[in-house]
Amino acid sequence: MPPHPETWLRVTPDGLFCEPGGFFVDPVRAVERAVITHGHSDHARPGHAHVLATAETLAIMRARMGEDRAGATQQALPYGETLTINGVKLWLRPAGHVLGSAQVCLEWQGSRAVVSGDYKRRHDATCAPFEPERCDVFVTEATFALPVFTHPPAGQEIARLLRSVALFPERTHVIGCYALGKAQRLISLLREAGWEAPIPLHGALMKLCTLYEELGVTLGPLVPATVAGKEKLAGAIVLAPPSAIADRWARRLSEPIPCLASGWMRVRQRARQGGVELPMVISDHADWPELLATCTEVEAGEVWVTHGREEALIHALAQRGIRGRALHLVGRGEGEEE
Ligand SMILES: [Zn+2]
Repeated sequence: MPPHPETWLRVTPDGLFCEPGGFFVDPVRAVERAVITHGHSDHARPGHAHVLATAETLAIMRARMGEDRAGATQQALPYGETLTINGVKLWLRPAGHVLGSAQVCLEWQGSRAVVSGDYKRRHDATCAPFEPERCDVFVTEATFALPVFTHPPAGQEIARLLRSVALFPERTHVIGCYALGKAQRLISLLREAGWEAPIPLHGALMKLCTLYEELGVTLGPLVPATVAGKEKLAGAIVLAPPSAIADRWARRLSEPIPCLASGWMRVRQRARQGGVELPMVISDHADWPELLATCTEVEAGEVWVTHGREEALIHALAQRGIRGRALHLVGRGEGEEE
């Protein structure tokens, strides 16, 4: 009988540790050997001695942290290619979350665990789509694990934005979005909706957009928002970090309408608190139905929940005959990067 994954994949203060393999997955502190699911800062930390990830994730880590802090030695592993580390088979599957994001699939003596990292199931032209992998234990995120969180189709949210732009042609719509993943996905969704105009960007978003383009993701014309004059930005859709949409920076824009793209925009109070006039429910995380569907699809008898609302998900899984376990990993944020 194969050993239960809990005997070889353990929760430690540094994060999830594969004991026979001698490596951590997304450790919260600098360690000797780290496997990284994706480039968000609550998963990819600086200072590891050895980092294994997709080539895209490694490139993102270097861009964000600098060459010297992104891992003393770095090993790129393409999706689907298998490595054996001290008898542990390891391979990566796309997680559909951001460019380079991967589920870490591990097999030890016939027992298989998949650490999904963050994931989503919706269409996203900026990264490879999620691929389900059958396993004994599935380690899932739970950022939006309450029945109230059902994300509408992203195209519908973009259409609402474009209607507002048509209605207020003299004003600037400024969308708050995080620099890794969300910004590029929004640009891509706008292009899919036929928005061909150059998109002015806050300086904090430029570097990763340039990197996405270098890695083969086409985003169309992008310009620094600071260069254009106020008049030129009338009628434009500008992208900026969430912290900038309601502060001094946004005042240079032409009668800005603050928008914010996040799964949290489902919660009206959050939008009001942030001074958001046009909340857009667009998320790079699975919503409630997608979390349940995914946990069922991978046929795991047991699901470990890393962060978010464990209780509701564990209860719903139990009703489906799946055993749930809360991992209580430290150091995870609210999932949508701060
Ligand atoms: Zn993430």
